[in-house]
Amino acid sequence: MQGLKGKNALVTGATSGIGQAIAIRLAQEGVNVAINYRKSPEDAADTEEKMMQKACGDVENCGVKALPVQGDVSKEEDIVRMVNTVVAQFGSLDILINNAGIQTECPSHEVATDDFDQVISVNLRGAYLCARETLKHLLSQNRQGVIINISSVHEIIPRPMYISYSISKGGMENLTKTLALEYADRGIRVNAVAPGATVTPINEAWTEDPQKKAEVESHIPMGRAGTAEEMAAAVAFLASDEAVYITGQTLFIDGGLTLYADFREAWSA
Ligand code: NAP
Repeated sequence: MQGLKGKNALVTGATSGIGQAIAIRLAQEGVNVAINYRKSPEDAADTEEKMMQKACGDVENCGVKALPVQGDVSKEEDIVRMVNTVVAQFGSLDILINNAGIQTECPSHEVATDDFDQVISVNLRGAYLCARETLKHLLSQNRQGVIINISSVHEIIPRPMYISYSISKGGMENLTKTLALEYADRGIRVNAVAPGATVTPINEAWTEDPQKKAEVESHIPMGRAGTAEEMAAAVAFLASDEAVYITGQTLFIDGGLTLYADFREAWSA
């Protein structure tokens, strides 16, 4: 895709699922990728190996660089260190992918405050702080850049039993739009990709059980869950110059999940 080769990206939560697929896809497009991991350097090494294999095949020095960077996005000092490390090692940071995310299930009237805060700290506050540090860098170098937030269909669909997750993704819509408006005239684009039900470790509870998977997929107009690679393709497009006039938007990649599947047949007549 146009305009990606040679750019430098940071992908948060790049050790698993959608984040790992994004790291691999960006590397395939010639992007140098900083692989953020929280707890496991081994998982980051796994992403790096897959990334370099897909991007370079057997070519030893194909020009794409990988940089594992430890950091917990719920901690401000980790984010500052992480962005500074990427800039120091790569020379600049052009593309931030705010992907790290967690969820906890609990009836809304029973949620412990600490659990609520933890989800908001990772999914929303962490995304904002990563954006803030990236914006500081871009503005200081008068550089154009791209920020992509990995949201969810729950940006617009309420999610009972997951109140903190629902709020965090709803907030992400406003985060995307506000930053997009504020920095549009500086050549910085901010968009979101909102996955529907996607086969990744976060969803092991149903992806590993054929009966539960069929039940989930019965609610999806296209009849199947999405793949991490399908989400990564949308991210690569939005990060590229092919999307150069797009900012402040959320792209739903959901097999039609946000089309109100229950209205497939007329039940209200
Ligand atoms: P996943 O496989 O569970 O991966 C989540 C990633 O986030 C892991 O690499 C994890 O690393 C990282 N992470 C968690 N807490 C972190 C923290 N405090 N600091 C840094 N990294 C942290 O989940 P996924 O399905 O790929 O989800 C990725 C994103 O897509 C999330 O924002 C999620 O809300 C969104 N999404 C997913 C779906 C879906 O159906 N899968 C649907 C809609 C939206 P550790 O293992 O080290 O914690």
